[in-house]
Amino acid sequence: MKVEEVKSTVKTQRISAHSHIKGLGLDEIGFAIQQAAGLVGQEQAREAAGVVVDMIRSKKMAGRAVLLAGPPGTGKTAIALAIAQELGNKVPFCPMVGSEVYSTEIKKTEVLMENFRRAIGLRIRETKEVYEGEVSELTPVETENPAGGYGKTVSHVVIGLRTAKGSKQLKLDPSIYEALQKEKVEVGDVIYIEATSGAVKRQGRSDAYATEFDLEAEEYVPLPKGDVHKKKEVVQDVTLHDLDAANAKPQGGQDVLSMMGQLLKPKKTEITDKLRKEINKIVDKYIDQGIAELVPGVLFIDEVHMLDIETFTYLHRALESAIAPIVIFATNRGRCVIRGTDDIYSPHGIPLDLLDRLLIIRTVPYGRPDMEQILKLRAKTEGLEIDEEAIAALGEIGVKATLRYAVQLLTPAHLTAKINGRNNIIQADIEEIASLFLDAKQSAKILSENKEKFMN
Ligand code: ATP
Repeated sequence: MKVEEVKSTVKTQRISAHSHIKGLGLDEIGFAIQQAAGLVGQEQAREAAGVVVDMIRSKKMAGRAVLLAGPPGTGKTAIALAIAQELGNKVPFCPMVGSEVYSTEIKKTEVLMENFRRAIGLRIRETKEVYEGEVSELTPVETENPAGGYGKTVSHVVIGLRTAKGSKQLKLDPSIYEALQKEKVEVGDVIYIEATSGAVKRQGRSDAYATEFDLEAEEYVPLPKGDVHKKKEVVQDVTLHDLDAANAKPQGGQDVLSMMGQLLKPKKTEITDKLRKEINKIVDKYIDQGIAELVPGVLFIDEVHMLDIETFTYLHRALESAIAPIVIFATNRGRCVIRGTDDIYSPHGIPLDLLDRLLIIRTVPYGRPDMEQILKLRAKTEGLEIDEEAIAALGEIGVKATLRYAVQLLTPAHLTAKINGRNNIIQADIEEIASLFLDAKQSAKILSENKEKFMN
């Protein structure tokens, strides 16, 4: 789907480490189930997060925010993501780190605003014209390779489509054949063929349109009007930032984003406040017309102590605006100086007036059994086979270093196993990897023990 293209890959990668998490895993009265929805342990924090979700749902969070406070690797990101998932399918989750606001090219408040808009979704309902029918014939037609080459290529594909009003034969572009193969479409399946983009979807397979490609007008045998012509509602989820970006660099095309990217007349080349205001106007219009609806998501700001007084002031104001995402801060610091001030100390380096508006949730270090459960979950999600003894060895490493460090050893351990001709990770693989790498604590210790050998 084209929407993906404008999303930052950095953000996607950050979230993929948490792909096993599907929600908070609470029972119907709000108690945490030890292991559920991909989350393990950390029960109190999960239950508190459940209360936050209830408050958001009953619209009691306006102007407020959440702070997750706890040591590194205690699942703060994981819980923030779970909150977003509890709020609904396709609710945006935008993770960022406080230090991201410091860039030589972009103003601090600009970076914040961009992330704010990444965390606000817009659900657009679009009606598309589709051809729907049961496949009665599926024949790739081959021709000799042109230009004197060897072999044959598929020149087009003939599809018989049995519809409510009889059968039709369509002669379609070969790319459609690849799409049909990819979707494993067989005779007897019900498919949709999109009239505009030519995307093919097999009923009951996946939600998203599998492949998009252009259908040349002349290669397409249109069906008589009113035959299998059917309107189908398609829901697209984009973020306000997607719209900003699409309008700053209009691409041209048939999908919702490219079409919405052509809405502003004088073409802009960068996202400015003016552009955002214009986008907001269009969005308001769509909402009024009932075509679109706003989906406030979650903006997660890790290492909140890295923000300075100026950005805090800006954030505080932004939290009060009519459309704001839920902001979840995270910190592993206690009292420290508020950045940008000379010597104003405050808890977590957050100004007191903002602190007053926060609901604070504490996360605590995991015990070894919890760590082992999480490691097993991750191994399973990454499709890695791992022995019980290897999990135990990794768990021990996790307790000594951090959970994150232990999780990160899974991939190199799998490679070691492979080099040794195995598919499953065994204890020896973990030991070998552990002897090759240092965790942060070990590394710092070695450096300080050998201080005199390093430059100051
Ligand atoms: P923090 O934000 O507190 O540093 P995190 O959520 O980023 O922690 P990591 O230290 O990155 O967690 O954790 C490593 C891995 O363990 C990630 O894949 C994360 O999703 C997972 N994880 C952390 N806590 C839990 C939990 N309670 N249940 C299941 N998986 C968890």
